[in-house]
Amino acid sequence: ETGLMEELFLEVRSRSYGLRQVNGQHYPMWDVILAEKAEAEPNLTLLLNTRVAGVETASDDRAGYETRVTGLLAFQQSTELAVRITPTTVIDATGDGFIALQAGAPFRYGREARSEFDERWAPEEADDIVLGSTIMFAAKDVARPAPFVPPAWAHSFPTEESLPFRPHEDIQSGYWWLEWGGRLNTIADNETIRKELHAAVFGVWDHIKNHCTVPGVRERAANWALDWIGHIPGKRESRRFEGDYILRERDLVAGLNAVPADVVAYGGWAIDLHAPDGVYSPDRPCTQPPLPDLYGIPLRGLSSRTVSNLYLAGRNISQTHVAHGSTRVMKTCAVIGEAAGTAAAFALREGVSPRELANCDDCVRAIQRQLLRQGAYLPLVANDDPHDLARLPGVIVSATSQATLDLDPAAGWEAPGISTAESAGLAQAVEQYPDGRELPLDRLTGQSIVISADHIDTLSLPLTNASSQPTDVAIRIRQAAHLRDFGPEESSGDLWTGTANVPPGSSPVVIDLDRLTVTPGTPVVVILEPHPALSWSRSWQEPPGTQAARWDDDLGYWRWEHGTLGFALEPVSAPYGPEEVLSGVTRPEIGANVWISDPNQPLPQAWELHWPQPQTIETIEITFDSQLSGWIWEGAFPLIPRAWDLQVLKAGSSDWLTNDSREQNAQRRAIHQFPAEKLDAVRIAVRATQGGRTARIVEVRCYGPQASASARGRAT
Ligand SMILES: Cc1cc2nc3c(=O)[nH]c(=O)nc-3n(C[C@H](O)[C@H](O)[C@H](O)COP(=O)(O)OP(=O)(O)OC[C@H]3O[C@@H](n4cnc5c(N)ncnc54)[C@H](O)[C@@H]3O)c2cc1C
Repeated sequence: ETGLMEELFLEVRSRSYGLRQVNGQHYPMWDVILAEKAEAEPNLTLLLNTRVAGVETASDDRAGYETRVTGLLAFQQSTELAVRITPTTVIDATGDGFIALQAGAPFRYGREARSEFDERWAPEEADDIVLGSTIMFAAKDVARPAPFVPPAWAHSFPTEESLPFRPHEDIQSGYWWLEWGGRLNTIADNETIRKELHAAVFGVWDHIKNHCTVPGVRERAANWALDWIGHIPGKRESRRFEGDYILRERDLVAGLNAVPADVVAYGGWAIDLHAPDGVYSPDRPCTQPPLPDLYGIPLRGLSSRTVSNLYLAGRNISQTHVAHGSTRVMKTCAVIGEAAGTAAAFALREGVSPRELANCDDCVRAIQRQLLRQGAYLPLVANDDPHDLARLPGVIVSATSQATLDLDPAAGWEAPGISTAESAGLAQAVEQYPDGRELPLDRLTGQSIVISADHIDTLSLPLTNASSQPTDVAIRIRQAAHLRDFGPEESSGDLWTGTANVPPGSSPVVIDLDRLTVTPGTPVVVILEPHPALSWSRSWQEPPGTQAARWDDDLGYWRWEHGTLGFALEPVSAPYGPEEVLSGVTRPEIGANVWISDPNQPLPQAWELHWPQPQTIETIEITFDSQLSGWIWEGAFPLIPRAWDLQVLKAGSSDWLTNDSREQNAQRRAIHQFPAEKLDAVRIAVRATQGGRTARIVEVRCYGPQASASARGRAT
């Protein structure tokens, strides 16, 4: 993700230790880091372990509202401290929406009928079913036989058939599918659910220890004992409060093709819906139809339609059951939280209600600007901060070198700048498809590529023909609006259509495009029609500015794929130039939006910016590439610069001075603040990374004294 969530995530990764990949065991440093950050924040009174037990309201009819929250009665059990908070603005992030409920805010519970929002994944008829709750467990090897006798009240899972589709080979860390209560009320019946889940947890452990017939599991479990079980059911779903807009399936499927104007957050997880009977269901525990792209979440959905000073954050926002299936994931909830907080702070300062805020274009724009400045990404919203002096007309940027986007298979599938270490996030995909380098053309298959030039002369595709005869494959090329814009299933508005003849065996098939005109700096999509004998070679590298996808008949849209389908272009695309740092966008979206140095040249590599006239600069904010679609379990993300020098050219001087040096960075964002001075130029010289071969910078912002303090907390 991005923003505060990304900062916290990168920090916990680089500072944690121990068994952090084990489900059910949290990162040892997570809570410590959260507390550390909160305690470091000025003007924040932190009341940990404090429960809001009562809510006071008054009627409020301005802007079409009914009520406002005037008081929160809270109690800190450990200190017996009772407090009455008189809030101006409240954010309810309590999951169940306790404050919103007490304030009389209207909410939804259960599944909408398919017809209400025209949702494919909704049931025919509305009902009261929600996603069930789960109790996790952890077990450990006690180095001696550990027989287990279940409590008399434990549920019995005597056979493998009693746990269909529920893999339990990993005996260490509990199972998310140990779920129940979807047909009950997950709030009112929480204790009934807890009791039943305990019966199920002990029943599953009894199965593993005494009945499991999956080869090797019982033997492996012989010395293992339960170490911990949860006593509070993890709640997936309960109330969803109604705002001025209700996020629905269509908004998620539309992705970047229909981003709401008041977008303040984004999601991207699949529509993850679970079997109502949970662990007792004979069906698969969940269905997870993936979405074609990231999607925007509107400000209008982060407040109640009846309470004038209440924002919502997390799983209780204004959305349908189906939309909640995607937005409910932790990092999306966190991104929503940052958006709600930023909006609430703005509303407080301006004295406006959530509705007035969302209906004011300038206010929405200010909130978006503030979120971007805090490091958040927002789909199709670019930085246009008028205070950002890096964006002044006439600035000249340059770099000591730059990578090209060259995936020629002859180069051994090592795209420049994308080393194996840097693509560690693909390890899971490689495991999933060990022989996945050849993707059969059993359906429409496409590769999106950002083209830096205004034309393509030739395109070469590494294809394999499994038959003994040469054969033709139909190809089309279309101009895409963004990286995952693969267009409709049928040919429409293509830049080029034609066929290529593929000889038997594996070979690069060269297509002469006769100087095909394209829009520079944007993606084109190369689409191959299905063919029973052909496959397209795939690299596991994922250079920024590329995206593979295949048409999914069942979903009715393109489904993005890991890896990159092979291509070689003439002229070679070079979308990683120094000007990308000022694109205003902090992840690949339309362009690659990142400067990457030439991987064949050693570090240090430097990026620099010159102003046409000297500027008074006090703050320089840098965003690096934290590999947003990648994944690692521990340590720092390899693409991030570990050490760099910030150098400046003072007005009229020709000697670069090192203003600041950083040595041990693991963060996506870095802020340099120094006494304001008039500068002609700045340079960032990356000396070392956390493992990657290249220097990469996503964004640089420069501010003078009057605008420099607002990286957090002040909308500009
Ligand atoms: C078993 C399980 C597995 C999951 N797996 C994943 C996964 O792999 N990846 C993923 O991203 N998501 C996963 N999820 C979903 C995700 O964890 C939740 O949807 C998400 O944490 C919801 O966050 P939230 O902050 O909105 O609500 P909650 O997590 O419910 O947090 C609400 C908080 O508010 C507090 N609170 C409630 N009432 C009050 C009050 N009156 N006063 C003060 N505080 C109050 C609660 O104590 C709680 O701390 C999983 C969920 C479950 C249950």
